[in-house]
Amino acid sequence: MPIARHAALESSDDDHERLVLEVSARARRVSLRVDVARGCIVLVRPTRCPETLVTRFVTEKREWITKQLASLPPRMALSHGSELSLLGERCIISEHSTAKRGVWREGSTIYVSGAPEHLPRRLKDWLKAEARTIFSAWARDFAATLNVRVTRVALRDTRSRWGSCTRDGKLSLSWRLMLAPREIAAYVVAHEVAHLKHMNHSPVFWRVVESLVGNIKTPRVWLRHHGASLHRYI
Ligand SMILES: [Zn+2]
Repeated sequence: MPIARHAALESSDDDHERLVLEVSARARRVSLRVDVARGCIVLVRPTRCPETLVTRFVTEKREWITKQLASLPPRMALSHGSELSLLGERCIISEHSTAKRGVWREGSTIYVSGAPEHLPRRLKDWLKAEARTIFSAWARDFAATLNVRVTRVALRDTRSRWGSCTRDGKLSLSWRLMLAPREIAAYVVAHEVAHLKHMNHSPVFWRVVESLVGNIKTPRVWLRHHGASLHRYI
């Protein structure tokens, strides 16, 4: 929820959008935290906190807020002409308002039919579908190598984890991995499939992941440092 009504924060409209209000029954005082994944600053306000207190707090912290916002990675607006990196391949988004073909890719161009205001949602749906096709195929290949069975691949948009796996072979993966380099996404899929061999993170588990994708250090470090940036889109 934008808190543009707090006039105390005298900066651009974009900054207002990036200061998000959360009302909390458990919070005892007004506080601020940086949410890199969402590319915003969250202002936590206790349920019964008077408006004037919040306004004063924001005024006092204005300098800090402005500084934090400036250091956040920019949010990516998706519209005609925007660039997107799909599994490491640079693509350009092209609006095609008269076409009735949904979303399709030709080389490095992703065409999106329909009204411009629906572009982000349509693109997201398409990315999810692409993720399902590509990641399912990878999961099947890894599973065949390990002689295990993947029974389902579900695509989600979780912030806390990139993937998970149940004992009966149900994989859950973040569709946002489509926005990461190919070897990073492949590592996550391999990691989850490898859990069908070992439901833990023991050295023997890591050796199995390594046997599937080779280097595992680079993707792990990449996700730690850049994972949050995958949440800047859409
Ligand atoms: Zn794991």
